[in-house]
Amino acid sequence: MKISGITLTPIQTHRRTGSISSHLILQMHTDEGVTGLGEISDLDCYRMYMPDVDAVRVGIEKIVLGRDPFAVEAMHVEMTKYLHNYFASAPSYPPFTPASQIAAGIDMACFDIMGKALGVPAYTFLGGKTRDRIEICYPLFQVKSEADYERNLGYVQDLLDQGISRFRYYVGVDFAKDEMFLAALRDRFGNRVELKALDFQARHYWKDTLRAYERLKPFGFDVIESPSWKEDFDGMAELRRRVDANVSEHVSSAAQAMQLLRAGAVDIFNITVVSGGLVQIKKLAALAEIAGLRCLIGTTQELSIGTAAQAHLGASMASLATASDPVGPLLYAEDVVKTRVQIKDNCIEVPTGPGLGMELDEDALENLRAPLVEWDRAAHGAGYVSD
Ligand code: MG
Repeated sequence: MKISGITLTPIQTHRRTGSISSHLILQMHTDEGVTGLGEISDLDCYRMYMPDVDAVRVGIEKIVLGRDPFAVEAMHVEMTKYLHNYFASAPSYPPFTPASQIAAGIDMACFDIMGKALGVPAYTFLGGKTRDRIEICYPLFQVKSEADYERNLGYVQDLLDQGISRFRYYVGVDFAKDEMFLAALRDRFGNRVELKALDFQARHYWKDTLRAYERLKPFGFDVIESPSWKEDFDGMAELRRRVDANVSEHVSSAAQAMQLLRAGAVDIFNITVVSGGLVQIKKLAALAEIAGLRCLIGTTQELSIGTAAQAHLGASMASLATASDPVGPLLYAEDVVKTRVQIKDNCIEVPTGPGLGMELDEDALENLRAPLVEWDRAAHGAGYVSD
């Protein structure tokens, strides 16, 4: 089997908050008539330097045309010639780059083709399934104004009504406001709400995080994420020795994984398919397992194709032991598949159909088609995570 063509479609979808996210939907065609689906998700954090769709398509064609989609490890070797350092080294935050996201789109389309060609789910090629469901939590963004308190509490009520009761909260723009919000959250919902994590987004000196941790600890959470300045893994390790909570950090490259392990900085690797694809991220999961650490699956918030890829990764991971973050199929008003990835009772149900288990809705894809770059619209992502 050989890859014979690429179709790349730019689309826009609305988040529950009203902001818009841009994505590229990748269709990878083969000479045997099997087409694989991939996704380059939620590109709005690159708004200042949004990729040119035709340039990306031509680049992907240079990598994949004429190649065997089953030889996906060799495909990654080829990718390193065009997508420099996409997995070897990377900025620690945000935990993905345009290169790592393009690699992930190519990689997941190959797994989709393999599964569809043989009539088996993608996790079959990752070591098989260790679980049927992936525990998840829903993101709550930091409160910045009075209006945000009620808005966030309203989201929580809506989600509780849908059976979603586990959340994570981005802290650190204003710790006093965070404290007031968390108090209001507990006051209104008590223990009906589970707070998995506070995410400090690598914005704080570790001693400041420690002070905030002590202040916010009474509200009850299991994990503190990205608790020190970028690359301050020694500070993170020092903090880890002083707190009861588990420390998690995004790991998007081999270099970071080794630095975090050597520093003893974390309890949990936060790993995500969008940092380089299933082949590479499965290696990080193995490293964590060997080192005796836990993993969770992070996200940039994918549509159903990308979320399915995350679910197949999670299904195959023995070291997945903390609730994960992808909830795109709940977060987005629109999608490009006929049946979305199902999220119920705080869990993603791992798709069981061939490949990623997703069927493209061609009409939805056409209806959502839109340019990647449009400045006159509400987009999230100006500060990476804002809405
Ligand atoms: Mg995070």
